[in-house]
Amino acid sequence: MTLRPYNFSAGPATLPESVLHTAAADMLDWHGCGMGVMEMSHRGKEFIAIYEQAEATVRELLAVPAHFRILFMQGGGLGENAIVPMNLSRGGLVDVVVTGSWSQKSLKEAQRYADAACAASNEASGHTTLPAVASWQLRRDAAYVHICSNETIHGVEFQTLPDLKALGCEAPLVVDASSHILSRSIDWDRVGLVFAGAQKNIGPAGVTLVFVRDDLIGHALPICPSAFDYKNVAVNGSMYNTPPTYGIYIAGLVFEWIREQGGVAEMERRAIEKSTLLYRYLDDNGGFYVNRIASDARSRMNVPFFLADESLNEAFLAGAKAQGLLQLKGHKSVGGMRASIYNAMPLAGVQALVNYMQDFAHRHG
Ligand code: PMP
Repeated sequence: MTLRPYNFSAGPATLPESVLHTAAADMLDWHGCGMGVMEMSHRGKEFIAIYEQAEATVRELLAVPAHFRILFMQGGGLGENAIVPMNLSRGGLVDVVVTGSWSQKSLKEAQRYADAACAASNEASGHTTLPAVASWQLRRDAAYVHICSNETIHGVEFQTLPDLKALGCEAPLVVDASSHILSRSIDWDRVGLVFAGAQKNIGPAGVTLVFVRDDLIGHALPICPSAFDYKNVAVNGSMYNTPPTYGIYIAGLVFEWIREQGGVAEMERRAIEKSTLLYRYLDDNGGFYVNRIASDARSRMNVPFFLADESLNEAFLAGAKAQGLLQLKGHKSVGGMRASIYNAMPLAGVQALVNYMQDFAHRHG
């Protein structure tokens, strides 16, 4: 294994190095069949085996119940922002909880297909908190309630999924889990649909995983493109149209890597360990660096932070790069820095970042 730099990109993001080696070895000839995975028919027995293995492994990893279908789609998270209302809203009411940029986009897109309203927002806090579930303004006849369970840009993460039934709300919960899928378990009793773009914890951009409860399939609006109607996708085993075959293959390798490492429980243990290390330093460094997220809303995956003296930003980034610590610049809408520490980021990478931050603060403090 080579010693690669640590890549803190928010996505597309770092992948387990062993997965990349396997993909490299398989590139010209997958398992002696004479074809690379990119070159084989999605309907041939080789790719069907790859697909079935990937689906079975992710079902096992997340303990997905039998009454949920797993769809491998295209269109990404933003695609699902339209595909979900086209399939679930029946043109009715949609309630969206806004906790940052991604749920804000979901609300705006849903408004194109349904009567979508903001049920709660953390905007007044600058997207640094989570609105108390008891304060959500849910409409009785809502077709579904949407949340983004980890806001990749703002660094806000739900620590548990809301129990809508306990609030007297029967609507299914729709969860955009793009940026923390497979880093914690999912309470399937509380959700109707979960979607996740692949390019953080799953694999390359181009695959979107959708977990959808059986009873929510088959209600698409007439305007819904056939290729995005969950029923067509489900009935055809994600092969109504040509699926993103290579991305599904890499996703399958990542799922197996997670299983070998000890599964989602181990990913969660590591995520707690890594994020605790970084947040502890951010809280105890004497004010050179700050993180503004409320402690009960802090993401284990995406950690935005600021240098108190922002004139040092460029020097910080250049020095980090020279140390092999890549892509730490914050999202342009927030500024500052952001360290994305997904499943494939080892503890040693976070330790190297903290060591660098300490050293930088020492030299410039
Ligand atoms: N939702 C979340 C939580 C995201 O982090 C992203 C991408 N960073 C998206 C949606 C949009 O994904 P895509 O660009 O693949 O449409």
